[in-house]
Amino acid sequence: MNQQTQPLLEFRDVCKSYDRTQAVASISVAVARREFVALVGASGSGKSTLLKTVNRLVDPSSGTVLIDGDPVGSLPLAALRRRIGYVFQSVGLFPHMSVGENIAIGPRISGQKLTRERIAELLDLVDLERSMATRMPNELSGGQRQRVGVARALANEPQLLLMDEPFGALDPVTRDALGERVRSLHRELNLTTIMVTHDMAEALLLADRILV
Ligand code: ADP
Repeated sequence: MNQQTQPLLEFRDVCKSYDRTQAVASISVAVARREFVALVGASGSGKSTLLKTVNRLVDPSSGTVLIDGDPVGSLPLAALRRRIGYVFQSVGLFPHMSVGENIAIGPRISGQKLTRERIAELLDLVDLERSMATRMPNELSGGQRQRVGVARALANEPQLLLMDEPFGALDPVTRDALGERVRSLHRELNLTTIMVTHDMAEALLLADRILV
């Protein structure tokens, strides 16, 4: 298959069981390049687990996840994760690091130092003031923190953006504003985006396709 027709991401018969629980039961789905897909379902239905098989935070019990046709298990972990931006529900900023240092952490782990200008550009992308770079996470609102979480996920210029209930903890107004920003970033940066949510309205608003 050529680059255009091959899905960017494919789940083939992916199953995941923990001791007593079957978290994911045989999922087969292909996601096209530049598609924005929402995974919707009740709490405990295995959405996060499925998402985490992509960046190998979780290994499937059986089945294969392919990125650009390559099984994710065959790629070096660092190289795989550089291609993937990951925004998690709890945001997970390091409290003892400034906003700028938090944004630069991914590239730093892979041995690259982000310039001040690049950090400023990433803040621009998520509509935060450039002066925020020197602030500490505890000086930010929940919405601002989640914007930093998105900027951090984009720092490695990923092809694929994974978001796990990214706006779950935010008030409705902040949630809508950030959702729209992410939708436009998805388009501007030619991202392929997968968002886990339990909110069907949010999924309908943002996604090209909804998987229940
Ligand atoms: P969702 O994201 O849809 O809320 P999850 O993927 O978090 O669902 O969880 C699916 C099921 O797998 C749940 O029953 C959950 O308790 C179980 N589960 C998830 N992670 C673990 C784990 N690390 N160990 C044991 N069970 C887990």
